[in-house]
Amino acid sequence: MSEIDQDGITTFTRRPTSADDPGGTFRRITCRCCPNAFEMRARRFMGRVPDLEGEVLPEAKKAGWDVLHGARKAVCPRCLSLQSKAKARKEAKIMVAKMPTPMPRAPQAEPAALKAVPAGKAEAPPAMDIDAAFLIRDKLGEVYLDAQRGYGEGWTDKRVAESLTVPRDWVRQVRCKVYGAGSAGGAEDFAPVLAEARAALAAAKDLTEQGLKVQQEMAVFDRARGEVLAQVGRLERRLADIEKAVG
Ligand SMILES: [Zn+2]
Repeated sequence: MSEIDQDGITTFTRRPTSADDPGGTFRRITCRCCPNAFEMRARRFMGRVPDLEGEVLPEAKKAGWDVLHGARKAVCPRCLSLQSKAKARKEAKIMVAKMPTPMPRAPQAEPAALKAVPAGKAEAPPAMDIDAAFLIRDKLGEVYLDAQRGYGEGWTDKRVAESLTVPRDWVRQVRCKVYGAGSAGGAEDFAPVLAEARAALAAAKDLTEQGLKVQQEMAVFDRARGEVLAQVGRLERRLADIEKAVG
């Protein structure tokens, strides 16, 4: 079986597999976002080079594909619906964020059942659906090297989440499932460590400065003590002289 790729459209032949499937020459395009493919039987043509996009793209479109940007950037119906769902979710979230905060009511008018939940618990991440899980897994397959090396250059959980318009926590969940709980999620995973290190360094610097100050104060104190001791010595000698003279 030979395959020829042209402008993102693969032409291949398949032998008959059954009475229902007589085999023949087919064209195929593949989804930009996942391994899904659209296949159709090639039209017969005489002599001239066929217009492959003109042949395949309208059929793919009928089958629900987005072919607006050509065969290489075609998106399958599954990814399309996933993207529109994600977009709707995002817009719904923005709508919620934009909603004006209601005026606080008098405490006695507020029924106990309507008490606000603490801000941190208010927005639990939505549960992941299986399509999104596959989409994330496929994307990780492209940009995640392995559990030891983590992400390829420039990629993080955050960036994957943004590129697929899914919650970042979903990406983390899938990555932990596929590459292990210890796998690195990218630079942002180190943020707490960096913050702690920065705080420790600042504290160390502060201590050093305080230590220097103490040292300087000690030097001043030593000098003063020396002067006082010298004065005491002089006074003792003078006192002894006076005692001798009076005595
Ligand atoms: Zn797809």
